[in-house]
Amino acid sequence: MSSFRASVDQMFTHAASLLDLPPGLEEKIRVCNSTYTVRFGVRLRGAIHTFVGYRSVHSEHHEPVKGGIRYAMNVDQDEVEALAALMTYKCALVELPFGGSKGGLRIDPRAWDEDELERITRRFTYELSRRSLISPSQNVPAPDMGTGEREMAWMADAYKRLHPEDIDARACVTGKPIGFGGIAGRIEATGRGVQYALREVFRTPPVLAQAGLDGTLDGKRIVVQGLGNVGFHAAEFLSSEDGARIIAVAERDGAVMNPAGLNIADLHAHMRETGGVRDFPGATFEPDADKALELDCDILIPAALEAVIHEGNAARIRAPMIVEAANGPITAEGDAILRQAGKVIVPDMYANAGGVTVSYFEWVKNLSHINFGRLERRQEEARHHLLVQELERLSDDHSLGWTLSEGFKQKYLRGADELELVRSGLDDTMRAAFQQMVTVVDGDPKVGNLRTAAYIVAIRRIAATYQALGL
Ligand code: NAD
Repeated sequence: MSSFRASVDQMFTHAASLLDLPPGLEEKIRVCNSTYTVRFGVRLRGAIHTFVGYRSVHSEHHEPVKGGIRYAMNVDQDEVEALAALMTYKCALVELPFGGSKGGLRIDPRAWDEDELERITRRFTYELSRRSLISPSQNVPAPDMGTGEREMAWMADAYKRLHPEDIDARACVTGKPIGFGGIAGRIEATGRGVQYALREVFRTPPVLAQAGLDGTLDGKRIVVQGLGNVGFHAAEFLSSEDGARIIAVAERDGAVMNPAGLNIADLHAHMRETGGVRDFPGATFEPDADKALELDCDILIPAALEAVIHEGNAARIRAPMIVEAANGPITAEGDAILRQAGKVIVPDMYANAGGVTVSYFEWVKNLSHINFGRLERRQEEARHHLLVQELERLSDDHSLGWTLSEGFKQKYLRGADELELVRSGLDDTMRAAFQQMVTVVDGDPKVGNLRTAAYIVAIRRIAATYQALGL
């Protein structure tokens, strides 16, 4: 099986071969600029424990570079470099002014209590800061697997203590809690982006037709792997807002299934209480979680970890459409098998770009030191009020008998708050990027699929930046 990095390289090389890049530029874009490995000790439980951390910078054609930090036992240099490369391409695809980076700490976060994790995280931040691998202007981490807003708050605070003179210190990480420089809608952002991606797919009939699907998301049967941050929000929004049926959820301890659709909020609460999906009322339990990937369904959403669809199981995947909410869930070999079988794959670089998109909004908010909408909200409401008053006056003066419903008035008169603005910006980003990919697929029969198109859009943009820089 190709390593994750080999898979990313292979997919990149294939897309680059369809472009006419100047000599050497393909190599310059592909290679990872640097990877820093740090080993540091923290005294815990009466002994010194050594931890290994990484921060990889793939491309600095735009700065700061951006990318999550994951806490997991299988973190290694290869994985971090592959993820950093994906970040470069992802930011280019959704037009964010960032280069790509990624970090990781080899740790099982569940093996340590909160105080211990805080000490480890603060120490890791110190190591990163010493090498400018965390900084509002150079390198801005974010949450990933095993980390969340709690870790980001610790990192932001640790950075602030090291750089008390930096007025933009809070912009050194994104994904922070709202009360500590975060932005409304960041926690849900990646799952929300998956929902917006799927809505755009369903607004694009030729793509739907390729998967043999039609209609709307309403009633579509979806299987989700991983009910963490990304998987939970995607499943929750798609089921409660779009009427999709989540017929199975695969987790660490097994899979639960119900052809009528699982209640995702209840399942999530059950997971929080019991630590797993087993014994969820009203569902069938399957101890071999991976079997759920092979269920008959309309859409499969792997939202847990990489390389879960590979040459060993790709031929058994029955879903005609796979949305890569996780990073790298399909290996290069698995990808080839699925493509040959005519499956539509909505690639990770696009499907999970919601997180970094809203991180961008958070970073901009931190640098501007003002909440989105604070200046214009009341003014917008006043203008809407004027219009409603005028419509009602016209109706009265000319005895037209119009009345605006209270529901309409309430919705229309209210100016957008930060959450609505963030969702609107995210929706716009997801729609635009998808249509750019579709245009590339339509423009050249050699492209053939959305992943190659995503790489082509990204590579063209990065190449244009390098060329503008004179490289
Ligand atoms: P998370 O840690 O919140 O959730 C991961 C979930 O997967 C957990 O519930 C875990 O129990 C489950 N899981 C682990 N191993 C599993 C297995 N073998 N089978 C089934 N389930 C398993 O992580 P997350 O932040 O939701 O990230 C998930 C994926 O999405 C990762 O690939 C990450 O890189 C990617 N991603 C995350 C974000 C983000 O904003 N959090 C953004 C972009 C991409």
